[in-house]
Amino acid sequence: MNQLTNTQTRDVEALLHPYTNARQVRLDGAHVIERGEGVRVFDQAGKGYIEGMAGLWCCGLGFGDAEVADAAREQYGKLPYYHLFGGRSHEPAIELAEKIKDLAPDMARVIYQSSGSEANDTQIKLVWYMNNALGRPEKKKIISRKKAYHGVTIVSASLTGLPYNHRDFDLPVDGIKHTSTPHFWREGKPGETEAEFAKRMAEDLEALIIAEGPETVAAFIAEPVMGAGGVIIPPAGYFPAIAAVCKKYDVHMIADEVITGFGRTGEWFGSDTLEMPRNSMSLAKQLTAGYAPLSAVAMDSRMAEAIESNSGTIGTFGHGFTYGGHPVSCAVGAKVLDIYRERDIVGQVKKIAPLFATKLNAYKDHPLVGEVRALGLVGALELTPDGTATPFEQPGKVGAKLGTELLARGVILRSIGDSMAFCPPMIITEAEIEEMFAPMEEALDATY
Ligand code: PLP
Repeated sequence: MNQLTNTQTRDVEALLHPYTNARQVRLDGAHVIERGEGVRVFDQAGKGYIEGMAGLWCCGLGFGDAEVADAAREQYGKLPYYHLFGGRSHEPAIELAEKIKDLAPDMARVIYQSSGSEANDTQIKLVWYMNNALGRPEKKKIISRKKAYHGVTIVSASLTGLPYNHRDFDLPVDGIKHTSTPHFWREGKPGETEAEFAKRMAEDLEALIIAEGPETVAAFIAEPVMGAGGVIIPPAGYFPAIAAVCKKYDVHMIADEVITGFGRTGEWFGSDTLEMPRNSMSLAKQLTAGYAPLSAVAMDSRMAEAIESNSGTIGTFGHGFTYGGHPVSCAVGAKVLDIYRERDIVGQVKKIAPLFATKLNAYKDHPLVGEVRALGLVGALELTPDGTATPFEQPGKVGAKLGTELLARGVILRSIGDSMAFCPPMIITEAEIEEMFAPMEEALDATY
């Protein structure tokens, strides 16, 4: 038990921390972060850390970008709040939606929320609404994947395929099913090739659709790269095979781009990199580089037209959030997308990705490392007891220990079970990549 500082005592008396062991934080005290600059944050004691997770996979431009802060300030001065209900509108919302459509020309309309969870909740409501409008009210079930992460609202947590998001919350709700995780290293059968594995994953999906009844299955949702499930990158051919099944049964494909959107994988969207066709997209996090809360659902013309035509029949479309499309968040988003273009963030990620992958792969033969995964500027070291896919007896303990060792050495990363995830700000330089990895060997040895 640590001697808590005054701030830490106030913290535990006033806050219930999300995704935190409430007992443990009372013993250890919270880590209070005070300011950020570039790829670094500084705590109350003045110690600096490389933020190797860009906060929660969101701060693509790092911390303290003055241009973004100026855009927010300007909008606060002009119109600090307005909504989009009942046909009202404002310029920042329109401008940002146009910019999203420019980057994803297959999308016809954009609707805003404030978080990734709300975006995914909205997705499911829109799919249900669309299928009612299309005269097929029985087509409502949603298929997600084991280990997926789609958020924490009742529906998005049900889409999430992680046991601890369900346990004691009485989830998932009915009508949401989970198919296999496309993690070849862990789930591949002896002698199976990646191509055969991808085909088997699609067969699993098809078997589930048939078992449920194709006329009842409305949508399939997937992160192009699974993030909070441990940074799982599907093998080549996976999404094309999955898409063929979805097409066969007219199953709407939702790309959850909350982590992978806006350059992270070395293209504008992870679905571009992973060849995932999409009927709608969930966007958040790097949409504003984390500088303001905002999310969006972008949808294709079939969905947009079905919703519009339903208004002709049943009247007002009854969905929307008070802060969805907040003008300051939209102004921040529009500025952030401009900066991504001006600073060629996609080119920057492409340029730095080989060094990032080389650095991660340097630990491939460490006795604690089972698999190394990297794509663009997102990656993971999978820790295992013996270098094989066998998990630890007590999952998560070793990952957490490595996180603590790295923190002591000035690097913030996130352990997801026993995957150590990396998702640095996309502005990270080669020298800063070197710095981020400098304490890794020592921290791994101290963990081993
Ligand atoms: N979808 C994905 C892929 C995510 O990674 C997350 C959050 O990490 C969410 C949805 C939920 O976003 P939020 O925490 O903003 O609700």
